[in-house]
Amino acid sequence: MTPPLDVLAVMAHPDDAEIFCGGALLRSADAGERTGVLDLTAGEAASRGTTETRAREAAAASEIMGLAERRCAGLPDAQVANSHAARQIVAAVVRELRPRVVVTHWTGGRHPDHRAAATLARDAAFLAGLRNFPAKGRPHRPHKVVYALAFAEDGVKPTFVVDIAEQVERKIAALEAYGSQLRARSRIGEVFPGGDRPVVEQILSMHAAYGSLVRRPYGEPYWTAETTLVDTLGGVGVATF
Ligand SMILES: [Zn+2]
Repeated sequence: MTPPLDVLAVMAHPDDAEIFCGGALLRSADAGERTGVLDLTAGEAASRGTTETRAREAAAASEIMGLAERRCAGLPDAQVANSHAARQIVAAVVRELRPRVVVTHWTGGRHPDHRAAATLARDAAFLAGLRNFPAKGRPHRPHKVVYALAFAEDGVKPTFVVDIAEQVERKIAALEAYGSQLRARSRIGEVFPGGDRPVVEQILSMHAAYGSLVRRPYGEPYWTAETTLVDTLGGVGVATF
């Protein structure tokens, strides 16, 4: 049996994990944590590339990301639903990979698959821990579910920001694995640079803006339903002035 994962990203389409939480996954891997990605679909409804191309691209990106595991749940693209059948599939992967933390999409957003993935990931993570839930594997319930807020137009103030100053270049490199023209493209997914501004510049700008919230050059924003614990007031981070 492989060791449990520290972090598992459950995202709708190949490249979503890199876009929405790639920096934090890289930082975890850099710190020696075991990271993984579960792509819910193979992205077959995407307007460019074949499923084979996207699988090859995902493998190249996984290498850059230093992922210990990457799986595809095989759900139909553009039809992701928080159904019992989908929960069984995702819960089986959760039971097999045994992540401590699950990171998934923000609950709002433009793409219906992203909204569905957010509730599906959370519910499957809970159900995976129920002894009698009919999914493959032995019960495992992750410690926590966090939501990636990056690029969410309808997002809220982040609960916390991960410092990705040392990871942001590799995040861009992982995204570039999904098609050599990333730097030439005017938009990807929910990233809307506007005009002729390169998409990479927009990605860096967004991370710079979130980084400034925690006084770091680049950051990746997250939201959790639970309040974040601080040890002592004397040790609290992020300067007011
Ligand atoms: Zn997506």
